[in-house]
Amino acid sequence: MPVKEPTIQPSPTSQKENLQTSPDAPRPQKVGFVSLGCPKNLVDSEVMMGLLARAGAELTARSEDADVIVVNTCSFIESAQQESVNTILEMARQKTAGKATKLIVAGCLVERFRDQIRKDIPEVDAVVGTGELENILSAAGIAPAPTPQPNSPFVVLASRPEGDARAAQGRFSRESWDGAIGDLPNYLYDDTTPRILATPKHMAYIKIAEGCDHPCTFCIIPQLRGQFRSRRFESVIAEAERLAQSGVREITLIGQDTTCYGEDFGLKDGLALLLEKLAAIPDLRWVRFLYAYPNKITGKLLETIAVHEKICSYMDVPLQHASASVLKRMKRGGGADVFLRSIAKMRRVIPDLTLRTSFIVGFPGETESEFEELCDFVREAQFDWMGAFSYSDQDGASAYGLDKKLSTREIERRRKHLMSIQRQISKKKKKALVGREFDLLLEGESEETELLLEGRTAMHAPEIDGKVFVNDFPEETDLRPGQFYRCRITEAHDYDLVAKIV
Ligand code: SF4
Repeated sequence: MPVKEPTIQPSPTSQKENLQTSPDAPRPQKVGFVSLGCPKNLVDSEVMMGLLARAGAELTARSEDADVIVVNTCSFIESAQQESVNTILEMARQKTAGKATKLIVAGCLVERFRDQIRKDIPEVDAVVGTGELENILSAAGIAPAPTPQPNSPFVVLASRPEGDARAAQGRFSRESWDGAIGDLPNYLYDDTTPRILATPKHMAYIKIAEGCDHPCTFCIIPQLRGQFRSRRFESVIAEAERLAQSGVREITLIGQDTTCYGEDFGLKDGLALLLEKLAAIPDLRWVRFLYAYPNKITGKLLETIAVHEKICSYMDVPLQHASASVLKRMKRGGGADVFLRSIAKMRRVIPDLTLRTSFIVGFPGETESEFEELCDFVREAQFDWMGAFSYSDQDGASAYGLDKKLSTREIERRRKHLMSIQRQISKKKKKALVGREFDLLLEGESEETELLLEGRTAMHAPEIDGKVFVNDFPEETDLRPGQFYRCRITEAHDYDLVAKIV
């Protein structure tokens, strides 16, 4: 299992602004972060870095230079847990051999294995769960910033009736989890929380909600992250305005389920209203959201995407499966027919829609014919982007107790087969783009070769979709990362595109 080097590059300007220096002050503690997992975890890392920097810590992208190393972990599936453990062990070795005096483990793995981490890895000095981000200061041995902040991040008290009902049924219970603290996480940052972006200067994620109330039987995120709760409308807008003023041009809204946004404080069509407001921020160019729950997509949401140019015609709707019987066992509902009707509606209202989804292959009891249903559905739905994940057993998820588990080998065979169907679809779709022109957000030199530049169009969400390689541009063009250019697609591969700036 590869061990990740620290991936976070703190923004030098924002870090400098936050440091408080005086000639007699002791040398600030250097803190290095390794952030694993999804963008939601990345935002947590950015908040912890902001809190540390505000209190006077210096952030470093090199863990070997750090006095304090923080590993922000992921615990979504078994492979993510394994990667988290491997990274902690690697950082523990660095601590023993190098200059670091503290190793802190944060994030989802702490919610799941709080006591075990401390017991099995004695080099770990402190753990910080997903609901305790402010404890990063005491864990690092750093005093909070001396001036009291006007607003502290609030703890959310409202909830959705569905969430309360599921709580009563035991959906969030962690009683059998060794070491899990009794209280579910209920922290949520707000616009006054300091945050240091780890993404390129021109783009940022905004977490608009946290937690999840859905009953999906394969998933332990609700136990790890708590009941669904939304950030206040004004807080999201204020954060987006500030980010736009600091040079951010693209905002991606995230949460475990963005389409429930606002329901906990009685807002109807909250996500659509939020998008409308964000589209009115002058300096923003692209706004998109990820992680839509299929039966929460309303007509108003689709119309809002369709009428606002700044809202990318892009939807990410993880469907997880297409066979109604598997979806029933997953406690998600729906099925191929319902989904196809819903996709047709999305494409009717948003004609230039880019549609992404993801599936779980090999759910317990998935028969060959249920898998074939999924394959047929993928052929018919013609997604622009698709991910397929192998089912992974999670102790604590209710699917863990189901029988008829498939072998790892069979699951992998099915996953590869599904991906090969999608590869053909993607190839055909990408080929149809050749000759067309799009706005391109230039990201810089290609990670694959310094001979090419790379960027994204509105059809490409950051980090998850394919890339657009730029191999040609007019000589006099002054190309700058973070700027938008008009491009023409000249070549297509299975997932990536090649373009010329025009
Ligand atoms: S919607 Fe389902 S899969 Fe997604 S976070 Fe919630 S419980 Fe997990």
